[in-house]
Amino acid sequence: MNNWSIDTNCVQAGYRPGNGEPREVPIVQSTTFKYDTSADMGKLFDLEASGYFYTRLQNPTNDYVAAKIADLEGGTAGMLTSSGQAANFFAVFNIANQGDHVISSASIYGGTYNLFNVTMRKMGIDFTFISPDCTPEELDKAFKPNTKAVFGESIANPALTVLDFEKFANAAHTHGVPFIVDNTFPTPVNCRPIEFGADIVTHSTTKYMDGHGAAVGGAIVDAGKFDWMAHADKFPGLTTPDESYHGITYAEKFGLGGAFITKCTSQLMRDFGSIQAPQNAFILNLGLESLHVRMKRHCDNGMALATFLANHPKVAHVNYPGLPGDPYHKIAEKYMPNGTCGVVSFELKGGRAAAEAFMKELRVFAIETHVADARSCCLHPASSTHRQMSEDELIAAGISAGLVRMSCGLEAASDLIADVANALDKA
Ligand SMILES: *Cc1c(COP(=O)(O)O)cnc(C)c1O
Repeated sequence: MNNWSIDTNCVQAGYRPGNGEPREVPIVQSTTFKYDTSADMGKLFDLEASGYFYTRLQNPTNDYVAAKIADLEGGTAGMLTSSGQAANFFAVFNIANQGDHVISSASIYGGTYNLFNVTMRKMGIDFTFISPDCTPEELDKAFKPNTKAVFGESIANPALTVLDFEKFANAAHTHGVPFIVDNTFPTPVNCRPIEFGADIVTHSTTKYMDGHGAAVGGAIVDAGKFDWMAHADKFPGLTTPDESYHGITYAEKFGLGGAFITKCTSQLMRDFGSIQAPQNAFILNLGLESLHVRMKRHCDNGMALATFLANHPKVAHVNYPGLPGDPYHKIAEKYMPNGTCGVVSFELKGGRAAAEAFMKELRVFAIETHVADARSCCLHPASSTHRQMSEDELIAAGISAGLVRMSCGLEAASDLIADVANALDKA
């Protein structure tokens, strides 16, 4: 940690070369690491010494980049994963197991919703999905004796609802459980959830962090603030001995700042192997070096497009928390005063059919299952990412059948607006 501004940390945090060492982050393209004695290696397997032995668990390139992301978020430790899906799975499964319960905002990414509502339910973990706009009383009532975490997205993909961090953090902490925030859309450049009570922050680095549509990846950051020992009975995985490591207790040995990430690496990464390729970590770091510069342009373009759409006669409704009339504008001003993101969603008066007709006329925006990269793109969530949801589930997640998601890239705003204006005229 240092006291540079976030702009400087985007460029320089993480990898700090010594005298005569490479200026650029080295790609350690090696599955394994060499030791002089078996006793040296034995210490690593007992978590008695820190070091590398096999890239399925840890690799230096990944650790440099994870350290940068941890710095950007203001956390104490971080790790990279192979994808954002793996990051959210690990973040929750590191503390919630069979027989446990988790509260999640209902307004989340479709992939995360499936992960929780289908796959993790098969593992015996129960979820309650609650509106991000719930009252504190409704949120309080959702807790059960076996609740182990509260989860939400800072800006939800694609509904663009903004999470009231303090409401969710207060509820989680009153009930002695951590608050996990997926901060993919605003990135730490625009929003730092740890400052508003988040304990664990996750990312799909595939989006703005890489920013060029080049490498799928994820990240987990620990704020280092949650006191596992104070709620020891709820979190036996962190507060009782791990027999697979000769009886070490993570919360005792690695403290507040290190227990969560050490357990996640040494158990979940060891057993599931969802490591990010060091090559991808290198590409991710190139993206991070310009994140602070790019986010500003993404936000300017998002604001310009949202303003144009809001004044167009064929448009029924625009979601963009940057717009003064948006229901989440006030909350966005509080938690992300410098901007939100470059994603805008909207509904045409003609519903699903009009959305499809509009999208096929676009020339600058491409139809892609992606958001948040340098090139503008668009998607119809109800027929793609959220296809598995019922009509009721779509409504709960804030997604109507005619919703179109537009991701503003780094092109000139004038060209983006001209493209959308032309497609609206033809549709
Ligand atoms: C894309 C996305 C994910 C999943 O990340 P992948 O890298 O595609 O696995 C999770 N959360 C949010 C908010 C996302 O936008």
